[in-house]
Amino acid sequence: MKNNKIKVGISGCLLGENVRYDGGHRYNSHIVEALQKHCHFSNFCPETNIGLGTPRAPLQLHWQNNSLQCLGVENPSINVTQQLKDCANHQQHLHQQLSAYIFKKNSPSCGPQGVKAIRDGQVEFTGTGIFAQQLQENFPHLPVADEGMLSQAEALQNFMQRVVVYQRWQSLKGSDLNKTRLEHFHQRHYLLIKSHDEMACQTLEHLLSNAVNRSIKDLAEHYINALMESLRKTASRENHFKVLGSLADRIRTHLNQTQFHRIEKSLAQFRIGTCSQQTLLGLFKPYMDKESDIRYAQSYYLAPHALELLD
Ligand code: SF4
Repeated sequence: MKNNKIKVGISGCLLGENVRYDGGHRYNSHIVEALQKHCHFSNFCPETNIGLGTPRAPLQLHWQNNSLQCLGVENPSINVTQQLKDCANHQQHLHQQLSAYIFKKNSPSCGPQGVKAIRDGQVEFTGTGIFAQQLQENFPHLPVADEGMLSQAEALQNFMQRVVVYQRWQSLKGSDLNKTRLEHFHQRHYLLIKSHDEMACQTLEHLLSNAVNRSIKDLAEHYINALMESLRKTASRENHFKVLGSLADRIRTHLNQTQFHRIEKSLAQFRIGTCSQQTLLGLFKPYMDKESDIRYAQSYYLAPHALELLD
């Protein structure tokens, strides 16, 4: 059902709208088909929104006094920089409801990084599309990517993991946030964070346990900053192996010898890539019900939604 889906902003041309300067589109079947079952796309084209027609004269970025300007390619006296920023600012109430944004790469309006930009007559790939830049300034924790960054299955999966966590964060922020709820949120994500970045997990634990004189607003801001940063790191097989190994140790006392050997064998197979994470988690799950520690008993790691999303 539409309302249960993850709300994802997307450049209109990636969804097949004929809104490009040349009158065409850049439909991306890989992303759309992988995500449409679980995501509700909110498609948008900033250039047409600010009144540029289709087809239209192309734009490009220029560095001027260390600031990016979006100018006409053939007529550089056309400058739509402020209009594109205003467009992003006027839509903040809509962007606030999104849990991710997927942009068209290399666009002077939409590209989130590495966009072609002219500096002193030389071409660089150091720009950010003006609309994308303003949107990211307004919502610094929102997971964003372009279609090129998501072309590999592992990258798409990692991105969706961030998106699912961010969506849970939005829901937590929408409730009456207090330190107890924040700690509970962290405990349920403990294993997941460890699988991405063990050091970051320790930093977050330290942050929460040394927060006596901090306001909840300040604490939450620091927490989400560090959390989203940690999830940018791809969860490696080796990190998963360590987390799964710690789960095996945890349930050891509940296992007879046959069960224990089966899990040990599956763990070894996981390490070399012949057993999936889902299979192992399926073996662990019945024993996790006997756990009292929330970090294990209610862990989101045991129900890796982002993996299910991309089945
Ligand atoms: S890249 Fe952005 S501005 Fe360009 S056509 Fe696509 S949605 Fe419109």
